[in-house]
Amino acid sequence: MLWIRIKARLLLLYRVFLLKIGFKKSLLKNRYGEQILVFHGVDTVGDTDINSRFISKEYFERFIHYITSNYNVISLDDYYRKKFKKNTLNIALTFDDGYLNNYEYAIPILKKYKVPASFYITTIHKKSSFLWPDFLDLVSKYSTKKQVVFDGNVYTRNEKKEFTYKGVSLKNTLKTIPYEKIEEMYGVFEDDWKNITSKPLEEYWKLMSFEQLIAIAKDALFTVGSHAKTHANLVAIPLEAAKNEISESKQILEKTLGFPIKEFAFPFGYYTEELANYCLEIGYEKVLLVDYNKNEIEKNEAFKKRFVMNPYISFELQLVSLLKGSYF
Ligand SMILES: [Zn+2]
Repeated sequence: MLWIRIKARLLLLYRVFLLKIGFKKSLLKNRYGEQILVFHGVDTVGDTDINSRFISKEYFERFIHYITSNYNVISLDDYYRKKFKKNTLNIALTFDDGYLNNYEYAIPILKKYKVPASFYITTIHKKSSFLWPDFLDLVSKYSTKKQVVFDGNVYTRNEKKEFTYKGVSLKNTLKTIPYEKIEEMYGVFEDDWKNITSKPLEEYWKLMSFEQLIAIAKDALFTVGSHAKTHANLVAIPLEAAKNEISESKQILEKTLGFPIKEFAFPFGYYTEELANYCLEIGYEKVLLVDYNKNEIEKNEAFKKRFVMNPYISFELQLVSLLKGSYF
């Protein structure tokens, strides 16, 4: 078992080496593949310490320059129509969460290279300009509190700067409850949040405005879809509440943008077959997941898995992993 893992690792490093010395064509030999990529935030410096899913704008531009020069980058529409080229990697780009930094940093680069992309947006904007997981990450990192009380339980801050109760992090607790309960957490950290919003940390939490979203939606390069209403974990909350998140976010976006919303991406990539099918029933045509968890899901062409960018590895290893379709 161990030898197989070592062999796989060596092969990966060999491929990285081939890429580094300019033998990228040999990596693509007889290869015909496709991937939908998921990005989250793009910041000025690529500080994974503040947000573990963010990459820097320099890295982003280097990556876009590389994939447009070497692979076939297409729109999600063309991806669904299977307008693929042979002997290359066919890629469609997606962005989850609707950060302002997408608008400020990623979109100018996408426009410069004429690269299509799809953006998945929650409709929480009407109530707040941030998503609850980012709020919690930031207050946990910067808080001076050692303990907080949420829902009657005392959460203690550990050395990783996470608040935990009986070994379960506050984040994982919040991933099991509807947004109305999650909102109670905002009061617990009110002073910490005030402190954060007074710092130059906006690129780690601020969402796009609806006006900016309208501007994106008008651009022929881009499409906009739903990422549910509040970024709750749709699998853990009651079924009716989950269905409401899926349908009401569609209505709000349609009312705001003035055209039908046909794309949906599950928050955290968590879904059930029932919820995925519900998306199709109410008019979504493209449903984006992270992984398939059932064969029936894989057989339905409306459902597509995606490949999440990994900000913790080198540029070359990211490319090799992308070609391989996995990080292992
Ligand atoms: Zn998300």
